[in-house]
Amino acid sequence: MMASYRGLAVVAGGAGFIGSHLCRALVERGHEILCLDNLQTARPSNLRLLEQLPRFTFVEADVVNPLPEEVTRHSDQITRVYNLACAASPPQYQADPEHTMLTNVVGTHRLLRLAEQAGARFLLTSTSEVYGDPEVHPQRESYRGWVSCTGPRSCYDEGKRAAEALTFDYARLGRAEVRVARIFNTYGPQMHPDDGRVVSNLICQALTGRDVTVHGDGTQTRSFCYVSDMVEGLIRLMESDIDGLEPVNLGNPVELTVNELLERVIAMAPNEAKIVYRPLPQDDPRRRRPDIGRARALLAWEPTVPLEEGLRETFRWFAEEVGETAGETAI
Ligand code: UDP
Repeated sequence: MMASYRGLAVVAGGAGFIGSHLCRALVERGHEILCLDNLQTARPSNLRLLEQLPRFTFVEADVVNPLPEEVTRHSDQITRVYNLACAASPPQYQADPEHTMLTNVVGTHRLLRLAEQAGARFLLTSTSEVYGDPEVHPQRESYRGWVSCTGPRSCYDEGKRAAEALTFDYARLGRAEVRVARIFNTYGPQMHPDDGRVVSNLICQALTGRDVTVHGDGTQTRSFCYVSDMVEGLIRLMESDIDGLEPVNLGNPVELTVNELLERVIAMAPNEAKIVYRPLPQDDPRRRRPDIGRARALLAWEPTVPLEEGLRETFRWFAEEVGETAGETAI
């Protein structure tokens, strides 16, 4: 059945990991897509797959710079603006912290202006990082966070906090209708093998027989959401009729330690893996688990893919995609 036409959606960061899954889902639901990406962290093959989709246009652009005319000239057709533009993995966003901060602040500002001019609804993908190293557990949207504004993670955490502030001000001033998702750790196929985050690192290392790297003693926790669940949550949030003046956590509340994640990965690995312990990076949060009560109540959303199944799918995808060659890249 053909999905009915839902208007033009701008997806900034649309060639990245979550963005590329989102673009595909939006096309399936009848949107035409204008995907902006600076290709800083995107896998080139994500883009090659996306470019085969109907009603999909790619524009190489960095949202830190003025939006290109190929975008602004369509402002009368744009109905939705999704902002996923920003490197999200600590080693990637710390590689150029100034650019990370500007992407979040200046980039969000440019995309909010676009939404205002277009009369489009705007969705910011914020992050669980706005809670910093949380003293409250699990993290509810009302928790204001324990964030360092001086440490190496601050370019991202504080950048996203500023992006939220700007987004809610646009809403309060009646300049744009907005939605803010706070995304918790997400994993799945199409992650970059060099992404640097724990799921892709452990899987790629285990697949290629390299040492698997555990930071600290591995007792820190995270809660991992499969990417299809995340995309469903983002679209539901964008399309919901809520007033948009509150952020909404999106993530999987099943929490586990890095060691427990490692056990599951090792159980799938073809060969025995050697574990090496590395120092815990500065300001690395001790624990993180979303309270998703608000998403359940407002969006009737919760994750449906169990960790075992999602990990197996991700492992299978990495095995096919990078199995042999991942060993040649430094992770
Ligand atoms: N981590 C690890 N080994 C790795 C990469 C990350 O033990 O090869 C740790 C990292 O220090 C953190 C947790 O795994 O405690 C999750 O890290 P990730 O970078 O995936 O996400 P974030 O810290 O942004 O939640």
